[in-house]
Amino acid sequence: MIIVSACLIGINCAFDGRSRPNRKVLGLMRTGKLIPICPEQLGGLPTPRDSADQIGDKVITRNGKDVTAQYVLGAKEGLFIAQLTGCKKAILKARSPSCGPKQIYDKTCPTSLIKDYGVFAKLLKENNIEVLSEDDL
Ligand code: SF4
Repeated sequence: MIIVSACLIGINCAFDGRSRPNRKVLGLMRTGKLIPICPEQLGGLPTPRDSADQIGDKVITRNGKDVTAQYVLGAKEGLFIAQLTGCKKAILKARSPSCGPKQIYDKTCPTSLIKDYGVFAKLLKENNIEVLSEDDL
């Protein structure tokens, strides 16, 4: 079984109330092996919601609200589902502050993108679950 960011299969869970469907990920859905998860919703955040960025150890919305606790809760809930279902791999939305594997946006950085993991991606990786993005397919 493989965890997948829910927005990649067309679920309208992104901050703007839309989805980010990816043709290759949708193709994999037919295998019946994907488990869609949105860690930001699992953490109790509404949809739509303010966009947010990791700033140091915190996650802060564009309006300055600290939503770190919700991001951490959603990541833990997502990990729980991954472990319950025996997932060893995840395909996650590139550059998201929750899901982003390898790169995330950082508004404090002149180039905007930095090498780091979203909160959910990092927790999965720390628990020996391989994290890929849709760009790796
Ligand atoms: S938290 Fe992940 S699954 Fe949810 S909208 Fe953001 S990128 Fe998609």
